[in-house]
Amino acid sequence: MYDAIIVGAGPAGSTAALYADKYNLNCILLDKAIFPRDKICGDALSGKSVRIMEELNLISEVEKLNGSEINRITFGGPNHSQFDVHLKGNKNNNHITKGFVIPREIFDNYLFNKAKSVTDTLEGFKVKDLIYEKNKLIGICGVDNEGIEKIIEAPIILGCDGANSVIARKSKTYKRDMDNTAVAIRCYYEGITGLSNQIELHYISEVKPGYFWLFPAGNNKANIGIGLSKNDAKKEDRTLRNILNEVTLSKYFKERFSNAKPLENPKGWNLPMGSVHRKNHGDGYMLLGDSAGLIDPFTGEGIGNAMVSAKYAISVVRKAKQSGDYSENMLKMYDLLLWDEIGKELRTSTKLQSLSRSSFLLNFVINRASRNKEVQEIISGMLSNEIPKDELSSPLFYFKILFS
Ligand SMILES: Cc1cc2nc3c(=O)[nH]c(=O)nc-3n(C[C@H](O)[C@H](O)[C@H](O)COP(=O)(O)OP(=O)(O)OC[C@H]3O[C@@H](n4cnc5c(N)ncnc54)[C@H](O)[C@@H]3O)c2cc1C
Repeated sequence: MYDAIIVGAGPAGSTAALYADKYNLNCILLDKAIFPRDKICGDALSGKSVRIMEELNLISEVEKLNGSEINRITFGGPNHSQFDVHLKGNKNNNHITKGFVIPREIFDNYLFNKAKSVTDTLEGFKVKDLIYEKNKLIGICGVDNEGIEKIIEAPIILGCDGANSVIARKSKTYKRDMDNTAVAIRCYYEGITGLSNQIELHYISEVKPGYFWLFPAGNNKANIGIGLSKNDAKKEDRTLRNILNEVTLSKYFKERFSNAKPLENPKGWNLPMGSVHRKNHGDGYMLLGDSAGLIDPFTGEGIGNAMVSAKYAISVVRKAKQSGDYSENMLKMYDLLLWDEIGKELRTSTKLQSLSRSSFLLNFVINRASRNKEVQEIISGMLSNEIPKDELSSPLFYFKILFS
């Protein structure tokens, strides 16, 4: 009998297993894939992920993985003006100093193996359903690569199984909604020029109201892609692949792609956004990461919140074990802790995402920032948490930059 079953070994699941080990909880970590496996993603690890990795003492090993260290974020606007934000926290102020771009095939494999060294794991095991006894959730059933069905029991299940979560679906926790889902495609390239220690987000008219990203992924490789809300993508008469082609061939970017070569066909996946607060727990289970829909609607980042959700979920598993109470009422604590930490930021990003529909506003802010050090400082301060990020969505911020 395990203390918990962790379904899915992406960042949410593997991080949960590592926190569980800290608290001497006996868990099993399951994944339908066999590692190393690819995951369609921009591969960018922000300050939030870095903080969790520091807490788990992983950072010195992560720094050695094949990828790029990031010290700068470049923002580009619809009229192609751009500015850089330097990540310049230091040890004294606890602000972000660096991020990473590490292909998920490498990063997730590293994290999974870390978890595997301290937890029971089962790869190539696809969870199919939840098992109830007298209306009480007692475990999961799934099938291994040879088609053999197996039931595993535990008093609590952590759904870390991503955007198409079987745990969210079978528990009927929330209805999937297209209004709060985005879709994005990724393509690895080699030979793109102008990449160094920066990630680039270009809020350009070809991808309105989304953005085009260009991230250095190590070894002369780049991870590029575009993302749009599901509803906006549906209204388009162009496919996302057409849009990506249009961007790479556009006047502004074609020079940088003149000797570049795609390493794959672009691949797409859904992003459940945290622009809505979905239900994330019930009797005997909690949903983490993408299965709870925690992706930042403005930046598209989900790894950091997946890791943060793992930290809180495990602290609540520990409390539930101590009290022997796995009821929905007890697990509500997870929702409270999690949204207390990430709710404000997600609400701000939701507002910013709506503001980014306006090319006028984007041009206005990015033009000002490209010419004015003080505006760069304000935005850099917000990104490194020195100035509250919610100021970005306040009219006062726009007055400030108008007169700075
Ligand atoms: C194109 C794109 C670009 C993105 N770029 C970024 C970025 O640059 N930075 C960032 O922070 N975020 C980015 N995101 C979001 C990020 O990928 C997710 O938020 C993150 O992967 C969530 O982690 P997770 O552990 O919740 O889920 P996942 O990483 O999806 O992991 C889920 C795991 O569950 C397993 N699984 C699924 N179903 C089952 C089942 N039935 N049984 C057993 N196992 C199962 C899967 O095999 C997988 O290993 C991007 C997303 C997309 C689509």
